[in-house]
Amino acid sequence: MKILVINAGSSSLKYQLFDMDNGTVLAKGLCECIGTGGRITHKKTGDEPYSLDIPFPTHDEALEAVLAVLTDEVHGVITDISEIDAVGHRIAHGGEKCKKSTLLDEETIAYIESIVPINPLHGPPALKGIRGCMRLMSTTPQVGVFDTSFYGEIPDYAYIYPLPYELYEQYQIRRYGFHGTSHRYVAGKVAELMGRPIEELKIVTCHLGNGSSITAVDHGKAIDTTMGFTPQEGVMMGTRSGTIDPTVVTYLINSVGMSGEEVEGILNRKSGLLGVSGISNDARDVTKAANEGNYRAQLALKILAHGIKKFIGSYIAEMNGIDALVFTAGLGENDIALRERVCADMDFFGIAIDAEKNNVRSETRNISADGARVQTFIIPTDEEYMIAMDTMSLVSR
Ligand code: ADP
Repeated sequence: MKILVINAGSSSLKYQLFDMDNGTVLAKGLCECIGTGGRITHKKTGDEPYSLDIPFPTHDEALEAVLAVLTDEVHGVITDISEIDAVGHRIAHGGEKCKKSTLLDEETIAYIESIVPINPLHGPPALKGIRGCMRLMSTTPQVGVFDTSFYGEIPDYAYIYPLPYELYEQYQIRRYGFHGTSHRYVAGKVAELMGRPIEELKIVTCHLGNGSSITAVDHGKAIDTTMGFTPQEGVMMGTRSGTIDPTVVTYLINSVGMSGEEVEGILNRKSGLLGVSGISNDARDVTKAANEGNYRAQLALKILAHGIKKFIGSYIAEMNGIDALVFTAGLGENDIALRERVCADMDFFGIAIDAEKNNVRSETRNISADGARVQTFIIPTDEEYMIAMDTMSLVSR
């Protein structure tokens, strides 16, 4: 069975074609500059990447280019698009209704459209990707896989904010959680690596990238997560503040005289590693400056590790224990020093990592110190594979 996975962003579109008979990626690529130019970079497994500049006025032209390159005589991996058995779409927000991956019909699409107000950045491009695929592959099943759906069963006391309850009823203001597909993938993988059923385990998964979130997975179910109504809440990120006192917002608006948009811009694009260090949102640049003695860079890295530690501790408390701790995504997989800082002085919880085992990047590895009660792992995330798996299971029913 061949599954195409589509991840449509506002000006880009990523794709991967899987052969699920052997779990391999046949080809993958990226369309960039949709709306402003156009370039497709395509990689057939085993070949060198190939790029082509081609105008993409809309997502439709980008999708046409993806299907053309997949069926291309030289760079392609299939002879006809009818060989694609199903398409899996990454959808950031499933709102309150889409609590599982699902076949996309008009009713579901209408629901996704109806929640665009709470998903303004990611909703519209995802819908363009879905509509485009439906037009170009009208008989191929389309599946939606939602970043929020892993949190469909977190308890009400973990997702309702202590605000007037009417705000939840009227405006759906609640914790939704994001990155769920990644957390679900690494939680499943760690159980597999430990050779134990996930239903027996208490796991904390740390997805630390440009955007970061931490999730408590108790006996296979997510019971709490750091991101909330939007991906702004939780740990400090590349350019996002994460959790702060909300009165900072009203103070900046009412007393300093900033507009709501300005404050949102600060919280989303000018805070986090970039805001504190004044150097970069990329941890590599910040680490370099910190190593050269830059105080603000050092401070930014300390705030980051401190915040991650705090959430891990609170999730251990919520689950009354922990069996496994997982690091994934850009920073989680690659930042040796960050993992070291987060796991330092955690022996009270049974967490201890081995400096030598931890000295690795982008590799699946158990980095626990000998005798540590908690198993700590680095697991490269693979959201696309998870989307392909969900898609396959829905269409093979
Ligand atoms: P996104 O959230 O955009 O998917 P990623 O998961 O790809 O982001 O993470 C990107 C971040 O990972 C970069 O901004 C950088 O801070 C971090 N990163 C990548 N490689 C390294 C490395 N070798 N050392 C430290 N940090 C790294």
